[in-house]
Amino acid sequence: MTQIIDGKQISKELKDELKEKVTAYRAQGIEITLAVIQVGNDKASSVYVGNKKKACEYIGIHSLSYELEEHTTEDELLDLIRRLNGDDKVNGILVQLPLPKHINEDKVIETIDAKKDVDGFHPMSVGALSIGKKGFISCTPYGIIELLKRSGTDIEGKECVVIGRSNIVGKPMSMLLLRENATVTVAHSHTKNLKEVAKRADILIVAVGKPLFINHEYVKEGAIVIDVGIHRDENNKLCGDVDYEDVFPHVSAITPVPGGVGPMTIAMLMKNCVNAVEIQK
Ligand code: NAD
Repeated sequence: MTQIIDGKQISKELKDELKEKVTAYRAQGIEITLAVIQVGNDKASSVYVGNKKKACEYIGIHSLSYELEEHTTEDELLDLIRRLNGDDKVNGILVQLPLPKHINEDKVIETIDAKKDVDGFHPMSVGALSIGKKGFISCTPYGIIELLKRSGTDIEGKECVVIGRSNIVGKPMSMLLLRENATVTVAHSHTKNLKEVAKRADILIVAVGKPLFINHEYVKEGAIVIDVGIHRDENNKLCGDVDYEDVFPHVSAITPVPGGVGPMTIAMLMKNCVNAVEIQK
């Protein structure tokens, strides 16, 4: 029978564990603070920011909110980040992406103090991950490892295929799987014979950004499929990069959309905020 990997439930368990940890820190006089910066009022970004603040509230992390006008200059944003870098009370700094076109995202990410980079996007964090050092890890792939482990999947020695090589999902995903001793293949838009490559996978991780792109022809019988994609179909219903109905009878486990990877991303952001206390010691 196919197992549905329940990201909602697993993220709830994780958030409850983090809540306990935060309470224990508070008893030692340690308060955790996350600064959340949003530039402009992109609707989707506002929803994400709202959900992040709600998660902070649930866990007991103090959140500072900076809602900046769309026409905020790059210098103004960088000045705010530098101020927060220098504020000892702030443990984590998150700048909601995407930013308006006149602001250079790379410059913004690189200005955040690597010790407060709770999104795990800073080159120092990425470098630390690639050489197995302590540091912040990009929340979505970090959450996928947690989903696999907590749903009882042994990753060691498994053939893992990651479709997608973005800086925030595909690349860190491949590094994390390597860290777990998997054999990892990264496929992308230039990969030849994608179906054959994907069919090698015991664990197939799909982050292509194309709705319903993967059907059963890409999946080995009995594989575990993790769907990172999130889209709205023509009926405004949420769907992933994987054609869930088509793939379901062929796999041993799969994440649904919604309720799979999505809830884990925010839970792992909270975990990074809690980890910040140790990283900043
Ligand atoms: P991206 O667009 O940056 O990267 C997509 C990757 O897919 C690229 O590396 C590209 O090479 C590869 N690709 C594109 N077409 C391909 C093809 N035909 N064959 C093989 N590979 C192909 O996207 P991303 O930021 O990595 O996000 C991927 C998806 O995951 C999106 O739908 C995004 O919305 C979703 N996402 C979800 C969460 C979450 O929390 N659930 C977080 C981040 C991203």
